[in-house]
Amino acid sequence: MIKPAKPARENISPSDLTFGLSTCKRCLWIKYWFKVTMPGQFPLVGTMAALQEEHFQGADMPTIDPSLRPGKVTKWGEWVKSKPLVVHGAETRWRILGKYDLVATNEDGTIGLIDCKVSDSQRDSGQFYSPQLEAYAYSLENPAAGRAQTVASIGLLVWKPTTAIGTSVDNYGFGVFQKYVPVERDQANFLTVIGEFINVLEGELPDAGPECQTCNYIVARNALD
Ligand code: SF4
Repeated sequence: MIKPAKPARENISPSDLTFGLSTCKRCLWIKYWFKVTMPGQFPLVGTMAALQEEHFQGADMPTIDPSLRPGKVTKWGEWVKSKPLVVHGAETRWRILGKYDLVATNEDGTIGLIDCKVSDSQRDSGQFYSPQLEAYAYSLENPAAGRAQTVASIGLLVWKPTTAIGTSVDNYGFGVFQKYVPVERDQANFLTVIGEFINVLEGELPDAGPECQTCNYIVARNALD
């Protein structure tokens, strides 16, 4: 595979800093240099996330979690784009581009960033999602255009489905257990992760992961031709 003169996309998606980096770097590389993305199958994820997000529009932050600063959720589902990322003092061609879930305007002028999840995964830890949330925070604090903001808190708002509820076809639904997981600000770790990510992108095509069913299928299928 010959690397083109320019990547097909120069905007890094925050979610690639969690799921992308923790799986296989080869597919990531292909995604950014050729804009060819492995199709994912996540039925219901978008619908559930949209419902959860909508539920908290205008919410008071301390009602979500008492640890949060006084303020209200004032924005949701907006795109943010950063200035070019600087790694080891050098400006790169890469920027962050992503759509956050909820942003609160705090009474002290700072903002709070919340990422919504409907999930029962053990992986919903602050540490796993820290680079993704920091990427949004970085974009808000170093925007490509407009006023830079100060992000006072970042965290996950997790809904874990626990029960089926309702008594008739008009009101069936799912009950959830809600937890807010505060994520400690760690920009130094974000800069390390994004530096590693950019090194992968700027390098040659990485090897495929040996355990990926998709790649094993493609290799086996191609061998039949
Ligand atoms: S092993 Fe192959 S299909 Fe799987 S993620 Fe890596 S490059 Fe993509």
